Amino acid sequence: VTTPVRILGAGAAVPSLRLPAAEVAAAWGAKGGRGQAAVCAPDEDVLTLSWQAAEDAMAAAGVGHDEVDALFWGTSRPPFAEGPSHSMLAGVLRLRSDAGGLLASGSTHSGMEALLAAWDAVAAGSARVALVVAADALVPGLGSSLELRAGAGAAALVLSADGGTAGLQARATWFEPILDRHRGDSHDATQDLYDPRLFREEVFLPVVTEVGRKLATEAGDIRAWALPDPDGRLGGAVAKKLGADTKVADAVTAFLGETGAAMALLGLVASLVEPGTVAAIAYGGGRTTGVTVDVETPVPGASALAPALSTGRFASYPEALRARGQLVASGTPVPMGVPPGSAGFVRGAHEMLELLGARCVECGTVNVPPTIHPACINCGNDKFEIQELARKGTVHTFVVNHTMPAPFVAPLPLCVIDLEDGTRVMLQGTADDAASLQIGDTVHLLLRRYAVERGVPVYGFKAKKEVVAA
Ligand SMILES: [Zn+2]
Repeated sequence: VTTPVRILGAGAAVPSLRLPAAEVAAAWGAKGGRGQAAVCAPDEDVLTLSWQAAEDAMAAAGVGHDEVDALFWGTSRPPFAEGPSHSMLAGVLRLRSDAGGLLASGSTHSGMEALLAAWDAVAAGSARVALVVAADALVPGLGSSLELRAGAGAAALVLSADGGTAGLQARATWFEPILDRHRGDSHDATQDLYDPRLFREEVFLPVVTEVGRKLATEAGDIRAWALPDPDGRLGGAVAKKLGADTKVADAVTAFLGETGAAMALLGLVASLVEPGTVAAIAYGGGRTTGVTVDVETPVPGASALAPALSTGRFASYPEALRARGQLVASGTPVPMGVPPGSAGFVRGAHEMLELLGARCVECGTVNVPPTIHPACINCGNDKFEIQELARKGTVHTFVVNHTMPAPFVAPLPLCVIDLEDGTRVMLQGTADDAASLQIGDTVHLLLRRYAVERGVPVYGFKAKKEVVAA
């Protein structure tokens, strides 16, 4: 028996590119290929998607970043296989330095593991407010069946012991120690199932159906289900056995494809917009876990997912391969002058990732970034107060670089931005805005991956034009 906990808010993030399955099929000489999948642009990854979903969930919940006691993050593709993944996400989210939590990884079940760990922490009282993020950007083996559907996306929930308009109620889990989709230490991409029919009949269908039945027994009438669907047919087969309505979660999959560790929570977030009991089941690495949520009134933030699904632009198969790093130009990229582990990065980590400025106590000028300005650029004073910069502003001026050495990708805008708090900063823009950017445009500062330098990702904020609803 578990203690119920409450959901205060929800968020979601989708990447920029959409790859039609027919493009992939054609590349391998096959006909057909239904649907599409979401793919990260070269400057997006699991960290940037997670940041966006988490920021939106905290804003929807009305929870400040200093109120979050612990961050629970699940993904099969953390930005570092081993390294500072969790601390970097906590950093870009401006969480308190004593925020705890965990990174669950190793399979597409990890998003659900993060949710359960957060639930337990809140129920036990070790975290008053917990932030859950489930995200993925799958990298399928070339020519594999997963390649037709391998997607990307992120979902986030803010949990607490009380408040909110929905609550986590029941859970059920099951494991089978079998080899399914996997990635060994020597593999860059996910290896496909060896025998899909064996997996379907003897593992997936019986286990997922059993977990679904347990949830239905505990929770009673379940209005909507988010089911795992490794091949585009298995989810439907389970739904048939359970008599489950999967329309809401299927709409997410139709736009984004199979989103790995994010799939169950994305389907859940999509279902939190109407009252009633909803269920989500995750599968990965031989593990199956499901939860139910009782929704009293729509969860703040959940309704933002549906309109976000139809955004994005189509990418060709080669463009998707380049974005995933599976098609690489020959030649030697020009390395940055300073390695990502050097003093400048280490001492500037907080100001870079949290977007901080130094306000001169004498004249009020905000100096950015703080560590390279020992004296105020306006009055020469050396006393400052560190402050968080605004994340919205207008373009003061810009240039577009059309020739960039690798790892940068042309065309690349470089923008001088006047932020809402009066600070002037210079930042990169995004390639998608290069052709249409104008002086005076309203821009948001979004976390992006600037480069993969000496094998590791380097992050910073870019200015992106505000999307004005037509
Ligand atoms: Zn000054």
